[in-house]
Amino acid sequence: MSKAIPFPHPHVLRLCLGVIFSVPAVGLAADANVGYSDTPMLPGQPWKVHDGTRPQPRVITPAASFSLGANAPSDAVVLFDGTDMSNWVGAEWKVENGYMEAVKGSPRSKQEFGDFQLHLEFATPAEVKGSSQGRGNSGVIIYGMYEIQVLDSYHNPTYPDGQAGAIYGQYPPLFNASKPPGEWQSYDIIFETPRWDADDKLTKPGNVTVIHNGVVLHHRKEIIGRVQHRNVAKYSPHPPKGPIVLQDHNNPIRYRNIWVRALGEYDTP
Ligand code: MG
Repeated sequence: MSKAIPFPHPHVLRLCLGVIFSVPAVGLAADANVGYSDTPMLPGQPWKVHDGTRPQPRVITPAASFSLGANAPSDAVVLFDGTDMSNWVGAEWKVENGYMEAVKGSPRSKQEFGDFQLHLEFATPAEVKGSSQGRGNSGVIIYGMYEIQVLDSYHNPTYPDGQAGAIYGQYPPLFNASKPPGEWQSYDIIFETPRWDADDKLTKPGNVTVIHNGVVLHHRKEIIGRVQHRNVAKYSPHPPKGPIVLQDHNNPIRYRNIWVRALGEYDTP
């Protein structure tokens, strides 16, 4: 005998509530249900912040390896070589087998950087749990202000400006070059810090270039402002240097081989 089905069916009810309250629904194809419709428009773009109807970046399969295991050049600051987190503060993470894994808190580098080139490797959890923003969420938050999203974006629809490699809440990546859960992936990030004049007027927005597993996701893309959830990013003045922050979003994300070097200037011995 079949069991009586309650009305409305819990699954239907959940979907309805998701639409009413604009909560990201689970496991659906790219559409409004993985984003928000009650958010403000992004300046200069025909999309809202976290717009679920924005086109999903094209999925491509990256090569097996691009910069995995890249050794640090002689002028780089090695932030993590697989042994300990002595170059970081503000978190208690596990270090084992050459990687660090998120446990509690978002570590920030003790050292601060201006315009820089950053290499790091990450792996989203091999055991797939959750969906959309709840799966393998972390982030490289430059200065604790500008987030390059880290997420398990392998067959995991979410709003495009929140998927792996997005400038979170601002621009989706040009492509989805994500590897499967548990596999090591690389980010090579080049960042130019924003500048203000003596009157705190923004004279140069920050910009970022992101290469994910050998695929360019952003090329010197101007950053709109400090990362926001469900709102438009805005700048506020800050010094020309800051730390690298790795986001703890309650998922056991892993990082390894992290190094940074200053971009340098032409004709500077
Ligand atoms: Mg994040």
